[in-house]
Amino acid sequence: MTDDLNKSQLKIETLLAQAGSRWDTRTGAVSMPIYQTATFGHPALGQSTGFDYTRSSNPTRSALEDLLARLENGARGFAFSSGLAAIDTLMHIFAPGDRVIVSEDIYGGTFRLFEKVLRPLGIITVPVDTSDINAVRAAIDPSVKGLFVESPTNPMLKVADLPALAALSKAQGWTFIVDNTFLTPFFQRPLDIGADVSVYSGTKYLSGHNDVLAGAIVVKDPVLAERIAFLQNAVGAVLAPQDSWLLLRGLKTLPLRLRRQEESALKISRWLMDQRWVTKVHYPGLSTHSGHARLQAQAGGFGGMISFEVCRIDMVKTALERVKVFIFAESLGGVESLITYPPVQTHADISPAERARLGITDRLLRLSIGVEDAGDLIADLEQAFNGAV
Ligand SMILES: *Cc1c(COP(=O)(O)O)cnc(C)c1O
Repeated sequence: MTDDLNKSQLKIETLLAQAGSRWDTRTGAVSMPIYQTATFGHPALGQSTGFDYTRSSNPTRSALEDLLARLENGARGFAFSSGLAAIDTLMHIFAPGDRVIVSEDIYGGTFRLFEKVLRPLGIITVPVDTSDINAVRAAIDPSVKGLFVESPTNPMLKVADLPALAALSKAQGWTFIVDNTFLTPFFQRPLDIGADVSVYSGTKYLSGHNDVLAGAIVVKDPVLAERIAFLQNAVGAVLAPQDSWLLLRGLKTLPLRLRRQEESALKISRWLMDQRWVTKVHYPGLSTHSGHARLQAQAGGFGGMISFEVCRIDMVKTALERVKVFIFAESLGGVESLITYPPVQTHADISPAERARLGITDRLLRLSIGVEDAGDLIADLEQAFNGAV
C-alpha cells in the first residue's frame, strides 16, 4: 500500500483507472475519500497538517488536481466549480488595457463572459479565425498579451494549428491558452505541443455523466502556476469535495468512453453524409473535413461531437420533438447522447448576423454522441428526421 509506482512511466489509461486510489495510506481506501469539511484543526500554533481551509486546499480536490497536472505533464492542476469559473479566474492574469486574441466561434458562454463581463473591465478580447494563422498574425499588436484558442471549435469543429500558434505566441511573448474541453488530455495534450495553459469545462467529457458542473486549469510554468494558485484561493470559485470525487470517479473511464464515442460518431457522421435531407456534416474524423489531417498530426483522436445542417428550417422543430433516444438538451460529453440547437441554446448570445458569418445557421444541429448502441442512435435520427422531411 505504498505510492512507490513510478507514475511518470505509466500510460494515461493506468493513471486514469486508478484516479484517487492509493491516496489514503492510513486506511488503504481504494476510492478517494470525500473530505467533507470546510476547515482543518491545527496541531499547535504555527503548525498545519498541510490543510487549513477548503477554499485554499482540500485532500479530495488535491487528489484530483495532482492527477490533472500529471495527465499532461503540467506543473500544477486546479479544479473549479464550473468551466466558466475556471476561465474567469484565469483571465485575472490579464490587466485592464490588455488585449487577448480569441477564437471567433468560441463556446457561447465564454463569448458572453469575454464581451459582457471582461470587456467593461478593460480586458479586450479580439475574435479571429484561429484556424487561420494569418488571421492571428494580422491581429498582432503591442497590447496583445494572450491567445485563447478552442480547438476543435464549437459548434463548427474547426481545427487550429496548435504547434504553429505556440511558436507564434512564444515569439510574441503571449500567454497561449487552449480550451481542451472537446478532446481532453486523453486525445490532445496542449502543454506538450507548446501551450502555456489548458483549460476545461469538466462538466463535459472529463466527468462524462451529465451529473456535475466542474472546471479545470493545468499550467506548465511553475511561476504562472503560483499565480493561478493565488487567484484560485483569492477568487474562491473552487470545486467542492463531493464534486471533486464525482470528477475523479468519472475520469477513471475517460479512455473507454471517448473511444466508444469516437467510434460511434464516425459511424453516425458517415450515415448522415448519405441522407438526402442533410446538406452539410462537420466531423473532424471524416477525411473530407478541413481539419482532419491537422488533427491527425497533433492529437490522438477526433472526439465525439458532430454538427450538421438539414435542408429546411421547419424540419428542426419537428425532429427535435420526435427524437426518442437522443435527449434534446444543451451540454455535451456525457454517456447520454444529446441533440442541441446551437442558434437558440448554446449560441443565443451571439448576434444573428455574426452567427450567419460563422456558419451557425438556423438549420444547424449539434450532436454529442454518448455510449449507447450506435445502431439505436442512427435508427432514432432516421425516424425523427425522415418523419420531418
Ligand atoms: C461548456 C463549455 C464551457 C463552459 O463550461 P461550464 O462548465 O458550463 O461552465 C467552456 N468551454 C467549452 C468548450 C464548453 O463546452
